[in-house]
Amino acid sequence: MKLYALIGEKLGHSLSCEIHNYIFQKLSLNANYCLMPILKENIPNTISSLKTLGYSGINITIPYKESITPYLDEISKEAKAIGSVNTVKFTGNKAIGFNTDYFGFGAMVERAGVTIEGKKILILGSGGAAKALIAYIIDNKAKSVTVAARNPEKAGALKVLFPFLEIIPYDAIDAIKGDLLINATPIGMYPNIDGSPADKNILSNFSACADIVYNPLETKFLKTAKSCGCKTINGLYMLIGQALKAQEIFQETSIDKNIGEEIYDYLKIRF
Ligand code: NAP
Repeated sequence: MKLYALIGEKLGHSLSCEIHNYIFQKLSLNANYCLMPILKENIPNTISSLKTLGYSGINITIPYKESITPYLDEISKEAKAIGSVNTVKFTGNKAIGFNTDYFGFGAMVERAGVTIEGKKILILGSGGAAKALIAYIIDNKAKSVTVAARNPEKAGALKVLFPFLEIIPYDAIDAIKGDLLINATPIGMYPNIDGSPADKNILSNFSACADIVYNPLETKFLKTAKSCGCKTINGLYMLIGQALKAQEIFQETSIDKNIGEEIYDYLKIRF
């Protein structure tokens, strides 16, 4: 049996087991995916231990997406550009890191029929997920990408990875008009569902709004965007898309998009 796991600090509410084990079933693979909480002090030994135990691949979540990278043998192009890894494939004696949040975001916007090329895009938040979004948006030739950060000085570190990025403080977002506004902060996520990272006067300056938060499926941010006539995109397919891409990397095969739709239909009623 092939073994896979999600490693992170707190994994209680993770949907990863359900998603990956569903894919194994659809692909008729003799494989199992489990949750593996790891203490920070054990990170330096995690990769070598999982190699010894015969694991085929792992996903990595908060807070280890960056701290795992020194223990890997190779890192893919997009993971290097982003500076973090959420997928590791064990092959031969090597551990190779990838970032499939990048592809998950791509799958989410593509599924919604939104193209990035030539678009003016504003991202709210400058954390780990925002970096994967920025890399995808730059690689897909957006006209401009701006990040709004509550601490622009701290967010300035992103310029090392993405020199052409514009970074603005939160109180400057009402001056921006564009094509796509994306929430990459946790604001509005369960249980704080009454929060929104931007209100009506800002959302109405954009033709489409996406939220990478998926619980609830329709956040207050998206509800308000809909009332302003914007096209809206929820974050659930980013989660599914990153898992599908991880399995494509693990199994070295392409996975039918219908499997992603089946998982979406199964999970959407939860939120
Ligand atoms: P993170 O690394 O902690 O970054 C969060 C960002 O939001 C930071 O820039 C933070 O600012 C900012 N922020 C937090 N609270 C804020 C507030 N009250 N006002 C203004 N800015 C605020 O987290 P992450 O990994 O990027 O994840 C962000 C969200 O995306 C989470 O809700 C996560 O669940 C979701 N997510 C979804 C998917 C998916 O597959 N759909 C994938 C990844 C993440 P500071 O830097 O100043 O703290």
